[in-house]
Amino acid sequence: MSALRFGAFLIVALLLIASGCAQQNDSPPPSDKEAKIKASLDKLDPTDRQLAEEQRYCAVETEKRLGSMDKPIKIMIEDQPVFLCCKGCEKRALKDPEKTLATVKKLKDHHESHE
Ligand SMILES: [Zn+2]
Repeated sequence: MSALRFGAFLIVALLLIASGCAQQNDSPPPSDKEAKIKASLDKLDPTDRQLAEEQRYCAVETEKRLGSMDKPIKIMIEDQPVFLCCKGCEKRALKDPEKTLATVKKLKDHHESHE
């Protein structure tokens, strides 16, 4: 009887350890990525850098962090600075400027609500 209980205890303990490991593996180590993003943002002028940090994500590919590819691309739409993750997004941003500006606004609002 006690051997059986000990066996069950071992299994539970192993499962706990296994799930703990899996959780650790799931969370990505962001240090490299963040360092690269920071280095890319450092290439901008301080004023632009500030704006890019507020926007945080590409105005076209909103799941892409500004600076994750390289130095963010800055364009002007209706006198408003808009940042993009790469040159490839420029055409798409200019194709529908209203939508792009709305996305930028949303990105900034979203960012502020989380700070
Ligand atoms: Zn892009």
